[in-house]
Amino acid sequence: MQFNELNLSQEILRAVEELGFEEMTEIQQQSIPLLLEGQDVIGRSNTGTGKTAAFGIPAVESISPADRGRTTVLILCPTRELAMQANEEIRKFAKFKEGVKTSAVYGGASMEKQIHELKRGANIVIGTPGRVMDHIRRRTLRLENLRTVILDEADEMLNMGFREDIESILADVPSERQTVLFSATMPPEILAITEKYQNDPVQVKIKSAQKTVELIEQFYFETAMGRKTDALRLLLAAYKPSSAMVFCNTKAMVDQLTEELVKHGFRAAGLHGDMKQIQRTQVMNSFKNKTTEILVATDVAARGIDVSGVDAVFNYDLPQDNEYYIHRIGRTGRAGHTGSAYTLISGRRQLFDLRAIEKYTHAEIKEMPLPDRSDIIAMTKENLVKQISSLEANHNGYDILDRLAAMGIDYREAAARLISEKLDAETASLPEFEASRPLRKGKKDGAKTVKVDISIGRSKRIAPNFILGALVDATGMSGRDFGKIDIFDNHTTVEVPESESEYILDSTNPMKINGHQVEVKLYSGKPTGAFSGRKRPERKQEFDRRKKAYGNRKKSDVFSDYVPNRRKRAKNKG
Ligand code: ADP
Ligand code: MG
Repeated sequence: MQFNELNLSQEILRAVEELGFEEMTEIQQQSIPLLLEGQDVIGRSNTGTGKTAAFGIPAVESISPADRGRTTVLILCPTRELAMQANEEIRKFAKFKEGVKTSAVYGGASMEKQIHELKRGANIVIGTPGRVMDHIRRRTLRLENLRTVILDEADEMLNMGFREDIESILADVPSERQTVLFSATMPPEILAITEKYQNDPVQVKIKSAQKTVELIEQFYFETAMGRKTDALRLLLAAYKPSSAMVFCNTKAMVDQLTEELVKHGFRAAGLHGDMKQIQRTQVMNSFKNKTTEILVATDVAARGIDVSGVDAVFNYDLPQDNEYYIHRIGRTGRAGHTGSAYTLISGRRQLFDLRAIEKYTHAEIKEMPLPDRSDIIAMTKENLVKQISSLEANHNGYDILDRLAAMGIDYREAAARLISEKLDAETASLPEFEASRPLRKGKKDGAKTVKVDISIGRSKRIAPNFILGALVDATGMSGRDFGKIDIFDNHTTVEVPESESEYILDSTNPMKINGHQVEVKLYSGKPTGAFSGRKRPERKQEFDRRKKAYGNRKKSDVFSDYVPNRRKRAKNKG
């Protein structure tokens, strides 16, 4: 169905045409007519399905000359980027409709400028809940004329802790209004909001993500927990995406990985919620204009960001939620282009989680071995042939070739030297996967063990897999060589084979875990934490804490957190 089959004004149709939209997306087809009628709507569909136009077009259409100077539509978005992006797109829909004013308000930007814009009489205000609340409190945003409230990415706004703000905004606006909610998922908290604040809402649901996922080739690679960064470097070297997104589950991991990639010559930049607005805008712009080739991001920071032409998505960390996986890989393969998604997994448990994702998305995720050095050299050669053959014929260098020939270097030799220099530049510093580190003797059954003490603990949201990953990475030993891991508030103890303890201490100072510098010492039974020296009371206190948190379970259950479960990891996300 095309836009011009709807009862839209000429001004809007012209704007839509100028944007190059012809066919409506499914969510647009289903929700625009309802919204034009003033219905309350619950819209469910995935990233990249055109939700901004789905609610933006009716919003612009609803403004009439009588609304001059009044705010009649309020749109809430989870992040500044999304608010800015929605504002830009809605402005485009309003381009030919005279007198429609829009304004975006979000944190981390000048209050004065926003107040100035609001004073000029914005009809449509798009903002993040926190900043919108700010403006309401200062009475620089008045809601008495509001007719429509739209919650975009409602689930994400709740995830980000905006529930109170949202509820207080909804409680504040005239009750005779249209309330519209878009969300990728429908957790109970969302249903509670729709029940409380919507009036007979119509559900519009676009079935699963198959449509987006179909065009994306999906692969996974198994690697040791501590070798994920090296594995990623190999994949980047092999596939050479000119525009790629890499997803991590924590902000600290984004920083650490970005640093690592930059150090190895990749044009990478990180994006997460702790960065200043101005930095984030810079990063986004450089990614959009392809100065930055690799964008490393958390799910929240990347949510809904609209970039076209992403060749590949890499899941450095397995997403904590099936829906996130779809969101992530949906960044590639947009608008009918094919794309690729590569996921790194470590261990059986993650393989299991990956199979669950596969079921959920109804799409095959194929296993691939990591490319090795010779694969990459072959791929690089292939690329060089393409590159050189696509260069335009050019005789400028002939005089240089003549001079070289006079020195006894013929053109074939000259070309070979240049080519091998290029090849070396791209492949010389590739990480080695086999036998790069001396193979250490592992923990044998019955062999004597000691404990090492690491100066980081639960207060830094550390999970056992972070500890194990860092140890494996720093020592080159296998995960099986390490024994029991006990995480306390401010430190962690790990059982290690006594015969290797000296080597382990040597190779782990310095060591970073999840972005934090840590110190590793032999454990004397006297931790430096809050319960210095008294192991039993600390454990007792710890047990009581967990017992309270997890309810009445056996002691062995309460302490069996060696393998972190998905819920716990979910708390860690950026
Ligand atoms: P969502 O909010 O669902 O993630 P967006 O509203 O950001 O999706 O839209 C994703 C991209 O698709 C944008 O670049 C938008 O301009 C484009 N788009 C939206 N609707 C259409 C359409 N009907 N035809 C072509 N492109 C569209
Ligand atoms: Mg959106």
